[in-house]
Parts: sequence; C-alpha cells; structure tokens
Amino acid sequence: MTLLGIDVGGTYTKWVLMEGAVVAGSGTVPTPPGPDETVKLAASLAPRAESIGIGLPGHVDRDTGTALFVPNPPGDWDGYPVGARLRALVGVPVSVVNDARAFALAELELGAARGLADVLFAVLGTGVGGAVALRGDVLVGPRDNLGEIGHVTVAPWGPACCCGNRGCVETFAAGPGIVRAFGSGTAKITAAKITAAEITAAAVAEAARAGDGRAAKVFERAGWALGVALGDAASFFGVGSVVVGGGVSGALDLMRPALHAELARRRPLIGDIAVLPAVLGPLAGAIGAALYGRRSG
Ligand SMILES: [Zn+2]
Repeated sequence: MTLLGIDVGGTYTKWVLMEGAVVAGSGTVPTPPGPDETVKLAASLAPRAESIGIGLPGHVDRDTGTALFVPNPPGDWDGYPVGARLRALVGVPVSVVNDARAFALAELELGAARGLADVLFAVLGTGVGGAVALRGDVLVGPRDNLGEIGHVTVAPWGPACCCGNRGCVETFAAGPGIVRAFGSGTAKITAAKITAAEITAAAVAEAARAGDGRAAKVFERAGWALGVALGDAASFFGVGSVVVGGGVSGALDLMRPALHAELARRRPLIGDIAVLPAVLGPLAGAIGAALYGRRSG
C-alpha cells in the first residue's frame, strides 16, 4: 500500500511516500503561503498514494479533518477544512493529525519505542510537543490537546508562554527559550565563533560543548524543566519510558544529567524511567502522518 505523509511546519514542510513500512521517497519544501496552497501541494504529491496523512503543528478536529488552532504556519488555518478540501481533490482517504501525535505513532511503530506499550513522547523544537501512548495506542483527547507536555508548569512565575500560562517547560526547553536564556553574551558567543545574528539552540549547544559555562547552565536548566514535567507526567500515567526527539534533542546529552537527577529524585513513586533518543530523525512526523492516513483507509 502506498501512503503519503506530510508534516507541515512553520517554515518547512516535509513529505514521505511509504510502501508499507518502508520510506520510498521523501522531500522538504518551504511551507506554502497558506492552507489552500498546502492542500494543492499535497494533491500534487499524491498521484500514487492510496491514503494521505497530514500533520499540523497545532490542534485539529480529527473527525472532520478541520484545523482548530494552528498558529505557526503562514496563512489563516483556524477553521480550515483541510481534510474535506484535500479529499475533494484526490478522492482517497485523508487523515489530519497533530504533528507530535504523528511523531509518537512513528516512533512507537517503527522507531525508538517499538515493542513498548506505555510511553511518553516529547518533541523539542520551536515549541515542545508531546504525546502519551498507553497499551500501544497514542491517546487522543476530545480537544486534541492531550499529552501537551510542553505546557506543564515548572515555574509558576517564570517567562510568559504562548499558551497563556507562565513558566511552561516550553519556555525553558524549546529553541527560542534556550536562545533567550543564553541572551546576547557577545563575548562568549564570539569565543565560540558564532555571530550574534546566528544564535540558535544548536549554536548555544556548540558553545556549551566548547566549554562555555553559561551555555551549559542553560541546557542544565532545560534538562531540569523537562525532568520536572516528565516526572509529573510519569506519576499521572504510570509509564516506564520517554522518547525525546525534535531538532533541539541533538543537545539531549547536555540536558541528561539534570533530567535524570530530577527523575531519580522521584524514583520511589515513578520507578526507573528510560529516556530514549528518537531514532527516525526529521522525517518522523511525516512518517507518523502517513501511518495515520493508512488507519483512516
Ligand atoms: Zn505554555
């Protein structure tokens, strides 16, 4: 069966064509200027596909395939009937899902969590996405916001978050929060041969690896924040494993000591939690979307 999976991001959109569980083709393009153009792009990629899954960075109505709250990609997505418009063009089953839930299904079926049943997922990127799998199924809440580990409060008086709360994990462990915490610190950045205009979470990680103590502290704090939230989530859901992915997870090694210390502190309740790096890389979201599309067929 030929499956098309599309992962719409704020800046880039990735796609995969799968033959069963094998990736037969893939690509990355700039995210189109709006939902109409994104649907046309999906249709143009679909001539051989027998089902299509689209992952969006936000919340969707899974029953109707309508975007509910998708703030980051260009254009006005909220209320847009993605599934209906695409189905009208291609005539095959279409599934519209949250991108972190798609990541989770991919890692659960084909990646780091293969063979596991009860797992938390955290995707560290521009924000922090999350999902929960219990008994081998990725959970979906009625409002498509179940598993949003990025918005667990770790510092009630901390930095303001896009969700209306303060001190969410996302304000510490996503790319923008890491860059903001590191600040301008020009002298330190120059020492790591990085210009101010190029500061990204990867550059802060590079500085930390080059011995910059302040950069290391930023990742220590991110690891602590993630550990607090994952400890809470583990106490809610009783899981034994966590899969961490997304672009910022390349610096997971810098976060691990503080992350593990926080989880270890709570061992009497939550037991040992395995923290596994994701293995499917940047295409995980598109692969998971394709797998969801297959389920809709
Ligand atoms: Zn938040």
